[in-house]
Amino acid sequence: MTSVPDMLAAAVPEAGEAARHGHSVQVLCNGRWQAPGTVIFMHPHGRHDPVDIVQNFFLVRHGGQLTLVDTGVDDLGSFLRPEDRQRYGASMPTLDLLAAKGVRPEDVDTLILTHLHFDHYLNARQFPRARIVVNRREFEFVMSPDNRRAMPRSGFPREVFGWLVDEAWDRLELVEGERDVLPGIRVIETGGHSPGHQIVVVDTASGPVVIPGDEIYLYANVEEDIPIGYYHDFERLSRAMDLLHEIGGHLLPAHDAEVLRRYPSGIVG
Ligand SMILES: [Zn+2]
Ligand SMILES: [Zn+2]
Repeated sequence: MTSVPDMLAAAVPEAGEAARHGHSVQVLCNGRWQAPGTVIFMHPHGRHDPVDIVQNFFLVRHGGQLTLVDTGVDDLGSFLRPEDRQRYGASMPTLDLLAAKGVRPEDVDTLILTHLHFDHYLNARQFPRARIVVNRREFEFVMSPDNRRAMPRSGFPREVFGWLVDEAWDRLELVEGERDVLPGIRVIETGGHSPGHQIVVVDTASGPVVIPGDEIYLYANVEEDIPIGYYHDFERLSRAMDLLHEIGGHLLPAHDAEVLRRYPSGIVG
């Protein structure tokens, strides 16, 4: 017969040494999809063919608390051309991925959004209790109709913005610059890919874990020093790349399948 502690261990297999002694980061992946080469690699570098990407987001465990960095996307196929949908297969809903790790939506204490592009914020409404941390400049940009040309509805679902300023209003926290959101979890405004983009740095026993959001898409962007092709401010994007080189540590790009090859357990720190 299975004892209660054994059942808990089975439900939360990640609660290992790292989780008990400090911060750890769990990589979660909804599935695969595709982006134009000129989005992934800046145009003059000549990598124009479509690139397979994935949708990663991250669960930070720290002292009994849970912080989610970005929200994942449930149905990646709906964002693809019909002929590509079959090739990539079904994607995993965010809440199913969390449930498989023993996490319920109401267990998430803090949600940090690296930026307000749909693939990072779309599922924010699934977390009924979380404090939601967004960069002030990012929030003001997407809320201003002056910027409507930068924001097609397909990439910026308005219903989530409506929810942020209504149901989530009392839980929403706007931050600027560099800030410790929680002990050992820091956001740094970088503002290259989008106006108030922020990266997240988590201190762990094995060094800093860096969640770069979309300042890079793939390891190749930093390792081959080729910037992404979708940015708001190139000078800030370039400084963000310098910062990623400078911090080093464990880098976890949001759209690279290589993350789970480099960290096959899915746990970093
Ligand atoms: Zn983005
Ligand atoms: Zn993205």
